[in-house]
Parts: sequence; structure tokens; C-alpha cells
Amino acid sequence: MKRLVLKFGGTSVGTLEKIKKVANIVKKRFSESNEIIVIVSAMSGETNKLNEQSKMVSKNFDNKELDTLLSAGEQISSSLLSGSLIEQGLKARSWLGWQIPIITNNNYTSSQIVKIKTEEILNFLSKRGVAVIAGFQGISLENRITTLGRGGSDLTAVAIAKFFKADVCEIYTDVEGVLTTDPTINDKAKIIKKISYEEMLEMSSLGAKVMQPNSVQAAMIDNIPIHVRSTFLEKSGTKIISQNEIDYKNVVTGVAYSKNDAKVSLVGVVDKPGVAADIFEPLGENNINVDMVIQNTSSDGKKTDVTFTLKREDLSKALSLIEKNIKKLNYNKIIHDDKVAKISIVGAGMIANPGVTHKMFRSLANKKINILAISTSEIKISVLVQEDFTQQAVKTLHKTFGLN
Ligand code: ADP
Ligand code: ASP
Ligand code: MG
Repeated sequence: MKRLVLKFGGTSVGTLEKIKKVANIVKKRFSESNEIIVIVSAMSGETNKLNEQSKMVSKNFDNKELDTLLSAGEQISSSLLSGSLIEQGLKARSWLGWQIPIITNNNYTSSQIVKIKTEEILNFLSKRGVAVIAGFQGISLENRITTLGRGGSDLTAVAIAKFFKADVCEIYTDVEGVLTTDPTINDKAKIIKKISYEEMLEMSSLGAKVMQPNSVQAAMIDNIPIHVRSTFLEKSGTKIISQNEIDYKNVVTGVAYSKNDAKVSLVGVVDKPGVAADIFEPLGENNINVDMVIQNTSSDGKKTDVTFTLKREDLSKALSLIEKNIKKLNYNKIIHDDKVAKISIVGAGMIANPGVTHKMFRSLANKKINILAISTSEIKISVLVQEDFTQQAVKTLHKTFGLN
């Protein structure tokens, strides 16, 4: 007998009809003589709606109340699915995060899981019960409801697979699996049959929404194999596994994009030791992460320009921190732009293949797409472009690297 963790995302449980379809899948997997733990997200759009409501009440809605509010969507979907399974003649029961409990730290709105108690659910499974767990939720050590960050039901699934020593962790979603790029922006996107944790972590951190980055990292640390597959089509999907189990034929595995970034340039900064630290120190102290950084070489050795990118939501806070520091930084002017997008190519095949960088830049130049900033790691190259060029850049790179 195998123990399966099956996670269904928001679009998979978006209507009552779809919940019944999910119940059929669960019933089928159960009848193959498996132990089943199901994780569900809120019905699609529900968490966004709750988030909007909090903003209408207060621009600074209390974090702990926000978690109590946002977690509500999963209470609805888990009970609806459990009720649907009972209607189909199965023994089923829903569990909310606090009932298990899934214990997290106090980092409200993106908490880390510390421990999951398993006894009660294991007992239920041993009596041929199907456990349905509300994703995304936890409870802090100070007894308040927490959430695991947007898309956090993926993390619930991986953590449950770890603590319950599951044989398989399947992530059911609205697409065939992990694709070479987002199919909503490029209809030439193809299924990736096998992808390494490292590549998937880069892809999702760089914008591929299909798996939450923290969940991929958690799976990588504990070597938990993930199978991403469709709720609606009988297809083989994508296996997320160790790099050494993959035979690389392509240099680039996938193309990702994100529109969450903004660019800031400080023009005419004094070119002397310590200036970069003076710019970035206050940002770091205020939990603002800087991503790409470019410093021009100064032609006269006196003044230079510093450009960097950060999350769009952090832009106004960063600008006011820098402006507060104007005397010390002594720059001529500050320019910012939030209509930018980051386009990235990802692939472990890059390690052994030189020439990828120039091929990427040349293909964008041929389409007259200007590169505003660049950053690289061993298995990815990211460029910043004007947001209007997002789709064209993704399609161009997808074709250039033979993914069409
Ligand atoms: P769920 O509701 O199942 O959690 P999400 O909406 O979080 O699903 O993630 C699935 C979506 O991710 C897809 O509908 C697709 O538009 C988007 N996506 C972005 N990049 C990729 C990619 N490389 N492969 C597959 N899907 C992607
Ligand atoms: N419902 C939560 C969200 O929309 C968690 C999830 O869908 O995984 O972010
Ligand atoms: Mg998701």
C-alpha cells in the first residue's frame, strides 16, 4: 500500500462541478488501494477577494488578522471536498491547519513550518479514512492562525509529504505540468517531462507561478519527488527530481518572466568607497531586497550612476529611504520606472555550454528589444526590459533556444 499526498490548486476546485471531479480522482486513487491525504487550495479568486476586502477596511490591515481572514477560503474548499467524498461513499474528514496542528513560526503572511503532528491523521488513515487538509494554513506558537505565503498550499503538500513519509507528492493543477514557458503568454509552450529542483526553484522564483518557490526549496532540501500534473487531462505531467537523474539535451529548459519589479537609478553619485554600502544599507535594514545592480564606471573618477531593481511593492518605501539620505549620498537626481519586466532563461544545460549569453542578447537585439539590466547565475540569465516587450521577448527566447 502506498501513501499518496494529492494537492489540488484553486482552479481545480474553482466550482462545485470541479470539486465533484476532484472527488472522482481521489476516489479512483483510493480504490487502487492507496492511503490518501488530500491538500486543497481555496476556490480560485477567493483569497484575492479576501485580500481586497482587507484593503478596503484598512491600508495597514493588521498582519495577524489578515492571516485569519486569508485562510478562510481553504476552510470552505476542504469541507466541500470532504463532504463530496462522503457523498460518494468514502470515509472522509477535513482538517484545518490548527486542528492537526501545523505549527509555524510567528512570521505572519509568510510563515515557515516548524512541526506537524501526525498521530490523529495516521490513525484515521489506518481505518481507511481519506484525510482532507486545508492548504496554506498553520498556527503559530502564540496560538494565532498563520499562512504560508501566496501559493502556499504547495508548501503544505510538500511538508505533509515529508512529515507523513509519503511515497508520492502529486500537485494537480490547471495545466499539463511544468511547461517550457507560461502557456498564457506563449501557445508554443511544451511539457517538460523531468526538471531538477534547482531549475524549478529558479523558474518559480523568476515568475513561473505553477509551483510556489518555498515549496520547491523545501522539496529540494528533503529530496521529496514532486509530480506536477493536470486535474482535467489524463497526461503524464512533470517529475521534479534531482539533477543527476536527468540527461540534458537542451541548453535551456525554460523561459520565465515576472512583472513584479521596478528599476531605480541614482544619477551622479560620488565615486568613492562606501557609497554603494550607504545606498543599500538602509534598504537592507528595512527588509527591502535588491535584485540586479549596475554601477557605471565614471569617466572622470568623480561621479557615477548606480541602477538597481527591487520588488515593485517596495518602490515607494525605497525611494523615501534614499531621499532621506540625500545629504550623505549627494546624488544629482533619482529616476525610477515600474513599467519593467524581468525575462529569464533557465537551464542546467548552460553549465557545460558557453555562448548562451550572447545568443540571448543577439536574439533580443534583432527584435529591437533594449536590455536595461542583466543578472546571471550558473543556471540562469535574466534581463530587464520594458514591460511592453514581455510577450515578444519570451516568444523570441523560446524560439531561439529550440523550445518551440
Ligand atoms: P493552482 O491553482 O493549481 O495552484 P497556479 O495558478 O498557482 O495553479 O499555477 C498554474 C498556472 O501557472 C498556470 O495556469 C500557468 O498560467 C502558470 N504558469 C506560469 N509559468 C508556467 C510554466 N512554466 N509551466 C506551467 N504553468 C505556468
Ligand atoms: N489560496 C492561497 C493563495 O491563493 C494558497 C494557494 O492557492 O496555494 O495564495
Ligand atoms: Mg498555485
